Amino acid sequence: MDQANDPNRKSWISVKEDSDFPIQNIPFGIYQYGSNEPVVATRIGDTVIDLSSVAILGYFDGLNITDRGVFRRSYLNDFISLGKPVTNAVRDRIAEIFDETNEEAKNDERLKEKALIPVKDVNMLMPVKVGDYTDFYSSKEHATNVGTMFRDPENALLPNWKHLPVGYHGRSSSIVVSGTPIHRPKGQTKPADSDQPVFGPTKLFDFELEMAFVTGKSTKLGESVSTAQAEDYIFGLVLFNDLSARDMQKWEYVPLGPFLAKSFGSVISPWVVTLEAFEPFRVDGPKQEPEVLPYLQFEGKKSYNINLEVYIKPEDTDEHRVCHSNFKYMYWNMAQQLAHQTVNGCNINVGDMYASGTISGPEPGTYGSMLEITWKGTNPVKLSNGEERKFILDNDTIIMRGHSKNENIRIGFGEVSTKILPAN
Ligand code: CA
Repeated sequence: MDQANDPNRKSWISVKEDSDFPIQNIPFGIYQYGSNEPVVATRIGDTVIDLSSVAILGYFDGLNITDRGVFRRSYLNDFISLGKPVTNAVRDRIAEIFDETNEEAKNDERLKEKALIPVKDVNMLMPVKVGDYTDFYSSKEHATNVGTMFRDPENALLPNWKHLPVGYHGRSSSIVVSGTPIHRPKGQTKPADSDQPVFGPTKLFDFELEMAFVTGKSTKLGESVSTAQAEDYIFGLVLFNDLSARDMQKWEYVPLGPFLAKSFGSVISPWVVTLEAFEPFRVDGPKQEPEVLPYLQFEGKKSYNINLEVYIKPEDTDEHRVCHSNFKYMYWNMAQQLAHQTVNGCNINVGDMYASGTISGPEPGTYGSMLEITWKGTNPVKLSNGEERKFILDNDTIIMRGHSKNENIRIGFGEVSTKILPAN
């Protein structure tokens, strides 16, 4: 077991009872204080820990980190590139430094002064430089709901769906960090009562509740990653809000899949939680029938029990929960997705991002998009302030949260939040 995962460990940094960031989490992100240079950081409770300062004070000595500036970078890519033996050792060392039994660190005034900053005082930046981005479509419930609405209830899942993790290559340039506002996109749509397309702001603005994993190891062109090797290539996870314009999507997606309806902004949570931190929350995924081809078969528990929620917050009112789902509902797991992505020899790089696809559960309250929650707008959601929503309106803020919890610990992401602004 990773030392950092020890459920009995407590930190000398205070952690609130319901915090997503106990000492067992130790996620990685990039923070900025004022106009200073961006720095690699972790977080315990509501305290951000500057890892560059921790390194300068000598606490990482002996961990074989030859690149001395690796914590003073604008992205995590170079740190992640050190490889899991090093990054997991850093995670374990952080757990030791901030363990309540560590009297030396607890009484080190320089450490407290130079490395610890209240989270409210910092800006969290984009954690990784995303090279390539893939969006999968791996929730059976979501694919069935969308197939039923957009095409044919009798044949909601297309013939390939249970044989391969369907996906498309997305746009990495417009993946942004939580807190970044997004303008309502403009584009072509074709109204039902017209035989010609029209141009204008989308009328059907939606979110998609997703998770994404970040790869931590590269492959050469021609190489493949098996399901057994996949976890070694997955550094960690973020929450992923894949914003979508449904009317644009419906008109443009045949035959090559989503294009401009998805590329105007996707928003991620700022802390990359390592795959290792979720080790206690492994579960079996849904049974796959028919049996999948050998390169997609796997052994062991490859799904994770992570509770997910979506809230809508209209301007000047309280947030309202519109969905609660779980990462464990995914039909295709991350190991299968990565094995499929690389089976043709496509190479991958450190910092690439792979989104799960909308994570819908079996019941209406667990659907991960407004398209499904309101069933194309036919069944509006009533918010706590009395307003109704069929889709997202200008000045609404969309907030997603995610965490795993057992009797001992809670590991989470905090949140990913984005305000929707009127069309430019
Ligand atoms: Ca998506």
